[in-house]
Amino acid sequence: MEADRTAAVRTDGLVKRFGAQVAVAGIDLYVPAGSFAGLVGPNGAGKTTTLSMVTGLLRPDGGTAYVNGADVWRDPVSVKAAIGVLPEGLRLFERLSGRELLAYNGRIRGLPGAQVDARAEELLAVMDLAEAADKLVVDYSTGMRKKIGLAAALLHNPAVLFLDEPFEGVDPVSANTIREVLLRYTRSGSTVIFSSHTMELVERLCDWVSVMSRGQVVAQGTLDQVRGEQSLYDAFLGLVGAASNGEEGLSWLGSSSG
Ligand code: ATP
Repeated sequence: MEADRTAAVRTDGLVKRFGAQVAVAGIDLYVPAGSFAGLVGPNGAGKTTTLSMVTGLLRPDGGTAYVNGADVWRDPVSVKAAIGVLPEGLRLFERLSGRELLAYNGRIRGLPGAQVDARAEELLAVMDLAEAADKLVVDYSTGMRKKIGLAAALLHNPAVLFLDEPFEGVDPVSANTIREVLLRYTRSGSTVIFSSHTMELVERLCDWVSVMSRGQVVAQGTLDQVRGEQSLYDAFLGLVGAASNGEEGLSWLGSSSG
């Protein structure tokens, strides 16, 4: 199929298997350019696997992924130039300071030194990391790591930003900073795609939602299309099948007599 120029991300029949297990079962993911998009789904739904394939980190077993109209696996250089990624687990260079990490990221992106330095200082200030700029990343807290990782992902001003659980382990003040930066970024026409388990957050931030369950995309569209008349939380439970398991079992739990 033809690449779609109005899509920031599009996949056609994307598949990934791990042995006998089908982690991603032929999905057609679609995210319009300029969206603040949420990718939601229960544990093990296939979100991280999907984001890894779309960002060129994990080779699909079938199907095609396009970012900004370019085929991720046929044209990886142009796709990697157009994207920023804040991965799950966030493996950073621990023995660099925050400032050095940004300088390193800017240089490998081929930006001129003076531009890297100027942007790095701005990002450090906006992320409230100026005081910690010369501290080693290994000594950063969880929230500080998310913020420096986000700064590194934004430094080359990518067209599409992928974030795996960007708010997990982040205090409300830092979360607010991250939110402000991301909203400003999407207002300028760039696209954010982030995975999250927090429906309230997705509902507050996102204008586009894709819901995954058991390796499939089970709903996808504008926030209003996906949630309908309900809260996103209720719509989500309806879509992924609110499990009632646990009610019959665990009868011993909470009983002090056992
Ligand atoms: P979570 O919300 O818990 O992070 P997720 O939606 O990101 O989950 P994935 O991490 O993509 O889910 O996993 C999808 C399925 O693929 C899971 O069943 C997982 O066990 C399996 N899986 C993922 N990575 C691997 C791997 N490297 N080897 C084997 N199985 C894997």
